Amino acid sequence: MTTELLPDNIAALKAYSSAKSEKLSGTTWLNANESPYSKAYNVSASNLNRYPDPQPPAVIEAYARYSELQPEQVLMTRGADEGIELLMRTYCQSGVDSIALFTPTYGMYKVSADTHNIGINELSQAQLQQASASELSELVGEAKLVFICNPNNPTGALISVDKIAELAQRLAKRAIVVVDEAYIEFCYQHSAAQLIKTNANVVVLRTLSKAFALAGLRTGFTLAQQDTLAPLRKVIAPYPVATVIADIAEQAVSSANIISMRRQVSILNTLKAQLVDWLQSSAAISQVLTGEGNFVTLQLRDKAAIGLAYERGLVMRPFTLFGEDNWLRISIGNEQELNEVKAWLDSLTSPALTTKEP
Ligand SMILES: *Cc1c(COP(=O)(O)O)cnc(C)c1O
Repeated sequence: MTTELLPDNIAALKAYSSAKSEKLSGTTWLNANESPYSKAYNVSASNLNRYPDPQPPAVIEAYARYSELQPEQVLMTRGADEGIELLMRTYCQSGVDSIALFTPTYGMYKVSADTHNIGINELSQAQLQQASASELSELVGEAKLVFICNPNNPTGALISVDKIAELAQRLAKRAIVVVDEAYIEFCYQHSAAQLIKTNANVVVLRTLSKAFALAGLRTGFTLAQQDTLAPLRKVIAPYPVATVIADIAEQAVSSANIISMRRQVSILNTLKAQLVDWLQSSAAISQVLTGEGNFVTLQLRDKAAIGLAYERGLVMRPFTLFGEDNWLRISIGNEQELNEVKAWLDSLTSPALTTKEP
């Protein structure tokens, strides 16, 4: 046995159950906030005898243009997830430092912190919403990194750029505010990216996995001032971006593709409004968290509804939130996929299933 060789923090890890790690069988996948739009990309697989550019300039320049920053302020990573981990490995000392986060939120902040034996100051989304920036700057305590998922997965909640700016100013030289903007394309006017120009301690995480419809590509970006990024460039693996990935990413962030991404976002936002309507008028649902992002999170009156969805091949993401295990997150798919959600919803309240009288 080699398990006794494990450090305590690693031995204590539970396998992270991502949306895709459970072996579910289904026909309609609305559990991982993926885009329903897929498109073909051209790859040239020659020159693979050579190492790639550590940071492919064409992609970096195009993404800098898109985010209205300088190329030196953009670091390309293997998904936003690598950015999360890289920030912790770079800015936090194992066994000494801590991060702050606001639950319920994206699970990878905790996974990365636990993996690297970094402490967690767990605050709540309610505190993030209700406390002032000055109160928050006290609440985060000694945390080196303060993770704000904006809009928040899985609640969709948003906090204002002004509040992020004030928090960053109060934490200057004390902590870095990391704004995870995985879903920002669905409400782009709320991006905190421009704060980078005036705040050395603001980092913004982005991904091509959601609105850009490239979850399979594993590409994200970490945005920050040049001096803030410099240490990350020392810690990141030497050739993190494979040549073929760079090729596809370059096409994905072209101006033509950004236009088509924006069109898809507007269609998905419209479909979401329709879904929210259906959910709010369903007697099977007790609460709908209407926020931003390509997903809606709701509370079921009866958790058994999740099993009934699986029976129809409809896979959505169950959650335990606020101590209750009857929450469900539905990703915004295409019209046909959402019609299957509607059919499931209707079946939950149809007389055939609700006649319980003798
Ligand atoms: C999906 C998601 C990510 C992960 O993005 P990748 O680029 O696929 O690693 C990061 N943060 C949040 C909040 C997400 O929902």
